[in-house]
Amino acid sequence: MKFANFLILPLIFLFTYCSKSDSNDDNQIDDNSSSSVSEVRDSTEDSSSNSQETSESTSDNNSNVVEEGVPEVFKKIYAASRVYLEGNNVVIEVDGAPDHKSPYYSRNHELYEPYNGSNTNFNQNPNSIKTFDFKFKIPLNPKEASKKVTTQLGSIGVSLNGVAFYNQYAGPNNQPLTNEINSFDQYAGHPQNQGVYHYHLEPTYLTSNKGQDALLGFLLDGFPVYGPFENDVKITNENLDEYHGHSHITPDYPNGIYHYHITDTDPYINGNGYFGSPGTVSQ
Ligand SMILES: [Zn+2]
Ligand SMILES: [Zn+2]
Repeated sequence: MKFANFLILPLIFLFTYCSKSDSNDDNQIDDNSSSSVSEVRDSTEDSSSNSQETSESTSDNNSNVVEEGVPEVFKKIYAASRVYLEGNNVVIEVDGAPDHKSPYYSRNHELYEPYNGSNTNFNQNPNSIKTFDFKFKIPLNPKEASKKVTTQLGSIGVSLNGVAFYNQYAGPNNQPLTNEINSFDQYAGHPQNQGVYHYHLEPTYLTSNKGQDALLGFLLDGFPVYGPFENDVKITNENLDEYHGHSHITPDYPNGIYHYHITDTDPYINGNGYFGSPGTVSQ
């Protein structure tokens, strides 16, 4: 009997291991790992009473999807389904839907919550949150561009929870956000007409979970985006250059790096364009 167990156990182990790696290969070929993302979401929702525990368990989980050669800092994008190198770029795959509640989820969705923010002029837009196969392709070693380009309408970067950053304008023709602001939900985001949920302002869910001075994501040029505080001091537009950033050492970049800060006044995330050369985003 003992002898039989001795033979069978390694066989079971081999079988489990093989079927596991097969399913990974399938994911890579199909480029469709959305099922694993929703599994992560489902399991975190169960423990949503403790938000800190939730983000920790998702970031642990995330270390499996950040592939070899990708700098450690990208593990912070806890909603990513896959992060990998492609030439001199880091490719970040996310589904773009927030991990926090929103009135823009359909009413039968677990994360649906009616508006409960403080804006008495809240005016829900007709759109609802959809998921996408976002690929943010950003420079692995971002550098200042000799010729700066303005940010475009649509996604200009990606935040830790996979939600897109948008610039300080509403379409078409770069109108100010004045009217759009009233449709921002209790976490300061909203979906556009295709269902892409995004932040034009501080992602308050992330700053309350990760800290007001935390790294919050990356713009398409590969430079990191930080919150509105630094060393317990509130950052204002006056502290930043025309692209809405500056350079110094941060906890994630001990050698120093150019980085953007999100402030509470227009232009919020980015100023007159990308400091570096932007990568691409597809959905
Ligand atoms: Zn918008
Ligand atoms: Zn700074």
